[in-house]
Amino acid sequence: MRPVVVTVAITGSVARKADNPTVPITPAEQIESTHAAYEAGAALAHIHVRGDDESPSLDPERFQAVQAGIRRHCPNMIVQFSTSGAGPDPLERGACLIHRPDMASLTTGSVNFGDGVYENPAASFTALGQRMRAEGVSPEIEVFDLTHIHNARRLVDEGVIGPEPHVQFVMGIRNALPPDPHLLDILLAETRRLLPGATWGAFGIGRFQSPVMGWALARGAQGVRTGLEDNVRRSKERLADGNADLVRLAAEICAEHGARPATPAEARAMLRLG
Ligand code: MG
Repeated sequence: MRPVVVTVAITGSVARKADNPTVPITPAEQIESTHAAYEAGAALAHIHVRGDDESPSLDPERFQAVQAGIRRHCPNMIVQFSTSGAGPDPLERGACLIHRPDMASLTTGSVNFGDGVYENPAASFTALGQRMRAEGVSPEIEVFDLTHIHNARRLVDEGVIGPEPHVQFVMGIRNALPPDPHLLDILLAETRRLLPGATWGAFGIGRFQSPVMGWALARGAQGVRTGLEDNVRRSKERLADGNADLVRLAAEICAEHGARPATPAEARAMLRLG
């Protein structure tokens, strides 16, 4: 069975305890939930932090607290900070990078996001990419639109990011890319043309989490992503019993495609991390 990097996106910026009481909010809850997901096979943790009132936060000290706990309890697990945020200010969104996680997300363009707009002007994502390079943090390129692949290529040409980044396709956000395997083929072809050698994964939001995972695995993805950030349900009938529950489901879907969760060491090699 081939190894596949299973990312667990533990919290996100949308889901609340009212949606699923197992959504981890405090750093202590986040560390505990990540540890359970790690034991279930996740090799990479994608981290957003919240305030005590559950609202999205960019507090670097919260990021640091979660990272420290993961480093202590989940040996070799890859820590990835989210640099998404409510506004385009790269200083605010990149403040967490001072704590030098292994990776950070980098969205290379703006996109409609539900009824709002996820703003990523070129000056903003370029500055975030430069900050990642300065701190030795590997970017994961978050692709919400075809243009984001072209923008990532420009960052490569300008020396802001390395030539073989990890690319993540995001499907199923309302008013952004719909979940469609034909669309995934187009995104993948364009990535292979513009960023040859890039590793990639794809994930779907809500009820599209499992179908998109299957499409990605069938196309040879190096990574899949699950977790309560993207989906709070195990099935139509019941809520997920925490992030580990979703990681176990991801491992089952991997097995259906001749794959298994990569160990953290395997994942680091596959994503070319130190
Ligand atoms: Mg995120």
